[in-house]
Amino acid sequence: MHNEEPPIFTYSQPGKIGVNLPDAGIASTPLPTELLRQDDLAGFPELTEPEVIRHFTRISQRNYSIDTGFYPLGSCTMKYNPKLHEEVARLPGFAAAHPLQDEELSQGALQLMYELQTYLGEISGFDAVSLQPAAGAQGELTGILVFRAYHLDRGDTDRTEVLVPDSAHGTNPATAAMAGLKVVELKSDARGNVDLDDLKAKLSPRTAGMMLTNPNTLGLFEEHIVEICRLVHEAGGLMYGDGANFNAILGIAKPGELGFDFMHYNLHKTFTTPHGGGGPGSGAVGCTAALAPYLPGPRVRQRADGKYEFFTPEKSIGRMKAFHGNFGMLVRAWAYIRSMGAAGLRAVSETAVLNANYVRVMLKDIYPQAVDRICMHETVLRGQIAGASKDVRTLDIAKRLIDYGFHPPTIYFPLIVPEALMIEPTETESKQTLDRFIATMRRIAGEAVETPEVLHAAPTRAPVRRLDEVRAARQPILRYDPIAIARLQSE
Ligand SMILES: *Cc1c(COP(=O)(O)O)cnc(C)c1O
Repeated sequence: MHNEEPPIFTYSQPGKIGVNLPDAGIASTPLPTELLRQDDLAGFPELTEPEVIRHFTRISQRNYSIDTGFYPLGSCTMKYNPKLHEEVARLPGFAAAHPLQDEELSQGALQLMYELQTYLGEISGFDAVSLQPAAGAQGELTGILVFRAYHLDRGDTDRTEVLVPDSAHGTNPATAAMAGLKVVELKSDARGNVDLDDLKAKLSPRTAGMMLTNPNTLGLFEEHIVEICRLVHEAGGLMYGDGANFNAILGIAKPGELGFDFMHYNLHKTFTTPHGGGGPGSGAVGCTAALAPYLPGPRVRQRADGKYEFFTPEKSIGRMKAFHGNFGMLVRAWAYIRSMGAAGLRAVSETAVLNANYVRVMLKDIYPQAVDRICMHETVLRGQIAGASKDVRTLDIAKRLIDYGFHPPTIYFPLIVPEALMIEPTETESKQTLDRFIATMRRIAGEAVETPEVLHAAPTRAPVRRLDEVRAARQPILRYDPIAIARLQSE
């Protein structure tokens, strides 16, 4: 572990006190004995108030966020979150609404949910929307449970397989497995599309459906999407659209019209609700009229008298989340859609695609492209720099970017691309920022050839050096633990 300042806990001394409140002059009411702590607080650091304030302020400044810098994390759409949405979400009528408040007293909140359902349905070409799920992955689980309920309801009990391309996000096969179904992997072809022959060979009366993101995780538009949907439907299966890459096609193509039956929207990606330490997420889902009866409730509908009410679809798979989803996120997504308007949303995708292609074209002579095609909102390159020794890996390039003040792109995903570097600049970055990123990537390529040891040592200018990432993930220390800290310091 590397720290310029010694850890705050080393300042701990018995008897230091963090708060000095004057005596309020009010007699205290003794707590009942059974509520009193029975043993001493052991192992807690004892610090003064300024030491505690400096500790938390310092660690808060170590966070990297979209508000501090460029964040080209592919597949995550780390775009700027307009501050207007924060104002709107803080309006007391929304922020102070209680989830158990009567419908009559919550008409504004219900109207907002109803309108958001309608807008998302319109943008994606679907008939019905549920705002329940808390994340994309939960939206996926919702969709596959709905597929299963639909098949079982028709007495179609043998449909237990879900087709998933080998380029898919890990949540897709995980979802199918969690829903109790079997994952069948599909190969990609040389142009980065689903291999149609492999698809035809694996479709069967056991096919419950297929999960696909379009554009796919190579940042490429599936050139045979209409045919893929037709083939899956002919086999009696349903098409799940992973909507994480929706930022590429807003106002240009509607998944419902391409042939998808169901999709999730990552409101925290496409619709600018904060994520990456901000959150919480929101993974609303949309579907065709045929699947609408199975959606999780409550959904919102408008009564004949114009008022809004909650209802649960008749064959609903049940709730996916307590109360009404992550409501504050729904407010922000609504504000985004209203402030952009239809033309604005289309411009979002056009600019996102333009920015990704700009980065791609400016870097592809040194960082080879995974597939030599025009990309959508993100581009997948490879960290295999011509002239650099083989022991310079994509991981080294990513860590060196941290030294230059950039959040690294997604690396080693999709799994089918060796040394993958997946860059998603988004539409909210200026050309100056993109040029600075491109120049830095080119500079790192030069370092990879001339001073590879600098890359292997990176990052050297960050609060921590290179971590043992497996250990950090498997054995995280998430709260003050004097024994664990002492052990780390002695290493
Ligand atoms: C982000 C992402 C998901 C999962 O969404 P979460 O909201 O993180 O659960 C699924 N698929 C793809 C392609 C993604 O990028």
